[in-house]
Amino acid sequence: MIQKKLFIQLSVFLIFNTLLYGQNQKKYERKLFFPDIDNYKTLLTDFHQHTVFSDGLVWPTIRVDEAVKDGLDAISLTEHLEYQPFAKDIPNPDRNRAYLVANDFAERINKSIDKKLIIVNGQEITRSMPPGHINAIFLEDANKLLHRNDSLKGIEEANKQNAFVFWNHPGWPAQRSDGIARLDDFHKYLIDNKLLHGIEVVNELYFSEEALDIALKNNLTIMGTSDIHGLVDWLFKVPDDNEIVNNYPGHRPITMVFAKSKNKKSIKEALFAGRTAVFYNELLIGKEENLKPLVEKCLLINSVNNLKLGYSEDGESTIKKIEIKNISDAPFLLKNLTPFTFETNSDIITIDPNSIHTISIKTKGNDFNGLKLEVLNAIIAPKKNLIIELLI
Ligand code: ZN
Repeated sequence: MIQKKLFIQLSVFLIFNTLLYGQNQKKYERKLFFPDIDNYKTLLTDFHQHTVFSDGLVWPTIRVDEAVKDGLDAISLTEHLEYQPFAKDIPNPDRNRAYLVANDFAERINKSIDKKLIIVNGQEITRSMPPGHINAIFLEDANKLLHRNDSLKGIEEANKQNAFVFWNHPGWPAQRSDGIARLDDFHKYLIDNKLLHGIEVVNELYFSEEALDIALKNNLTIMGTSDIHGLVDWLFKVPDDNEIVNNYPGHRPITMVFAKSKNKKSIKEALFAGRTAVFYNELLIGKEENLKPLVEKCLLINSVNNLKLGYSEDGESTIKKIEIKNISDAPFLLKNLTPFTFETNSDIITIDPNSIHTISIKTKGNDFNGLKLEVLNAIIAPKKNLIIELLI
């Protein structure tokens, strides 16, 4: 009995994989792509990374190379301000050095690449909980943040420099044994006094629904970052250009920033205004007002045609064939919310990254002006998915 069950499971697995293999096998372009939305550019960022200037394992120029490979628009190297395990070899008396080294290198290579990379000066204020680890980006001088005996002073100094300040991995098990992100009085003080502006809902390999809840209830900007210490390729299993990939290729978590234009000032304005969305594994996470316009630009109704039959005893068919095109690097898992049923599948459809998917819908002769869909892999609040409308 168990053997038979196993056999069936194995067969289903093999058939499913063969289908996936056939459909998804294609040459891979590593650079991430998401379309701009109305009035804003969609900028791809990773504002939490480490190098040998704290406990990371690479020189800052490698972070620039990785970001260019991933097609990012802006990054920050946020070294641990108070944790310098390589100080014997890299004394690092000027805490702006990681930024300066990366920025010099980026300025040089930006001359020869289409998509310019912006480097933002940042630092990770590294304290026990509370407040835990806090990133400050868009700093003028990182050295002024170092106040070893006072958790608040560094954060206040960052704010004096008009930095954007966000709380890193708030549910990190090393600081929250239950893995649950929650606010202490210290955090409430920071939020009430506008000293804290964002929160990571995604850090490295982890997504925190509790952090998303905190973000929404306290109007904090939703952030997702790699917090990379080693190599992006290794940790996130990123294929290289032209590799044959199956299913969904690995990528680092990114924060999409919806900015008026591509420069530091606009990125900072957008972060303070909360215009972000996170792409992490196969998930999109963000406030509805940001995620809805993005997803509605990623998915387009390519064409609508009446089903043509070679033979019919029942007049012209009222079934419509609809081509949906996904121009982004995110897959979409969609649930039909229209009153109509589909002809070839259930109410759940998957649209792979950069692909065209055809569905046929039984309209029974009713007017059909578009699709209403629940995006099962787009999260706008705990236990709440995005609903979109794709109009013809
Ligand atoms: Zn970190």
